[in-house]
Amino acid sequence: MPIAADRAVAALPARRRSTSAPIDPDAAAKALAVHARLCPVYGCPIPYFHSLDPLSELVSSLLSHRTRNAESGRAFKALRARYPDWDAVIDAKVPEIQAIIAGVTWPELKAPRIRDVLGAVRARCGTLDLAFLAGMDVGTARAWLEAIPGIGPKTSAAVLAFSTLRMPALPVDSHHHRVAQRLGLIGPRIDVGPSHAILRAQLPADWSAQDLYDNHEILMLHGQQVCHHRRPACGRCVLVDLCPSAALSAREP
Ligand code: SF4
Repeated sequence: MPIAADRAVAALPARRRSTSAPIDPDAAAKALAVHARLCPVYGCPIPYFHSLDPLSELVSSLLSHRTRNAESGRAFKALRARYPDWDAVIDAKVPEIQAIIAGVTWPELKAPRIRDVLGAVRARCGTLDLAFLAGMDVGTARAWLEAIPGIGPKTSAAVLAFSTLRMPALPVDSHHHRVAQRLGLIGPRIDVGPSHAILRAQLPADWSAQDLYDNHEILMLHGQQVCHHRRPACGRCVLVDLCPSAALSAREP
């Protein structure tokens, strides 16, 4: 289907969009066309994979960076089993935390980061509870989180979107980022961090938390299952006619 035809999907209904980043109308139309194509493939609405409170989701997200889900899940459970609550992690020795989370990537960096981030939350709130974020709009809540050293756009979005807060934020992981880049939704030099605002702005501002969660999940799943890092399976990709990278990818060995 040519992209002009898919613009019909983008135009109906006309919706207000986020203004947090400049919007390329063609990219926004393509983003909606991609969403419409992938949703039936991956089965939207997609069930949430976590029901953690926001602080626990914060720890889980810090563990998950560049780490397989199974490994970060194991490390998260091990932390919970070892310490009675997150306050106890702040008081723990870094080498002990590092040993408990040894299965994740860069445990020597993540152990002090988790302890310091938890300490910063407690220092700012007086308690370890992020439930108050529910009373903020998404932009304000993200800014509050990202003011803490060690929390970037991906982590702040994950806390708001994946936790029991269920707020309308769009996380972008490495799979999501790669697919968006190959599709031309973001430029080749846009890193994961800055891509959050661009990709979010391409989607309707009034999309629900479930809509944005679905958008993240379907692009991530497409990256995992079809648009692989090394050899994208363009021959069985439902986005092939929308994708400027398709011909190039098909020539890869
Ligand atoms: S056509 Fe190929 S490169 Fe483009 S999104 Fe599909 S699998 Fe990825």
